[in-house]
Amino acid sequence: MRAIWQLIYMCIIPIMTYGAEAAAHTKKEEEEIQQIFNNLLKRLLDLPQSTPNSALLVETGYLPMECYMDRKRIMQAHRVINDKKTTLIKKTIEAESNEWLIATKEKMEKYNITMEDLNETKNQLKEKIIKNQTTFFEKKLNDEKTSKSKVRHLLDNKPNPKLGQRPKYMKELTRKQCRTIALTRTRMIPVKANHKGSYPNQECRWCKIQGIEETQEHIMNECEKMTKETKPTHNYQEIFDDNDTDRLREIAETIKMTIEIIMEENQSTADTPKNKIVKTNQQDDRPNNTNQPNKTNEKPK
Ligand SMILES: [Zn+2]
Repeated sequence: MRAIWQLIYMCIIPIMTYGAEAAAHTKKEEEEIQQIFNNLLKRLLDLPQSTPNSALLVETGYLPMECYMDRKRIMQAHRVINDKKTTLIKKTIEAESNEWLIATKEKMEKYNITMEDLNETKNQLKEKIIKNQTTFFEKKLNDEKTSKSKVRHLLDNKPNPKLGQRPKYMKELTRKQCRTIALTRTRMIPVKANHKGSYPNQECRWCKIQGIEETQEHIMNECEKMTKETKPTHNYQEIFDDNDTDRLREIAETIKMTIEIIMEENQSTADTPKNKIVKTNQQDDRPNNTNQPNKTNEKPK
């Protein structure tokens, strides 16, 4: 996986943000760029389309695309303003009414960057922008926490995620193991509580105890019928601990077993949810299914 992440950083992001120093993207265009990037990550990890986007960025260690684009623009302003030579471009943007500078200042305000900050060295400025963009994303996440239960689930279990930094497991585990952990952390395991409205009731299909809801937590750690077969050795909280990759590797294998049992049940019972919800990207009827994981990309790194 490490190579894939590097490839995205070195090739994909520069292509997607190409010309962002100069271009004035509309809000809609920015959203479209973000959408393309989200889809890329979902396809890469074989996650369902409905996976919450912000939670996905947290787990893969990226900031929203607008951050990368805005950063390029602010760094360009730094370059031009600190250019020792009086270039035409410098003269142009230094005019008070210059549209490019006005738009750039708006971007700077978004991340609390002042005109004085542009006098700092390149590295100092870059560091400050990244730090403030992390705060910007943190705020965005906290806003979503109130309205999106899946984002809340992630942040409640992982209260201080290192935003913009990739958790170690995403670099060291196999693609399938990464998928399993990401699927669980973003609360996308195909249990009833994660797909409300798709089942006639929320009762656990394994223990069938009245009033017991079929949630991820219940299925993975509490349900006696399920845990008898999957024998988890971890508690639910451990799934969100980024410090021990070896432990996450074991956990991913246990969860994989749990998912297999759920998928079997989903396919065999009349309780089956609407197909589109449990469908993953790979089951989509894409014309060219070249993204199928094979033996090569199952290997770590
Ligand atoms: Zn149960």
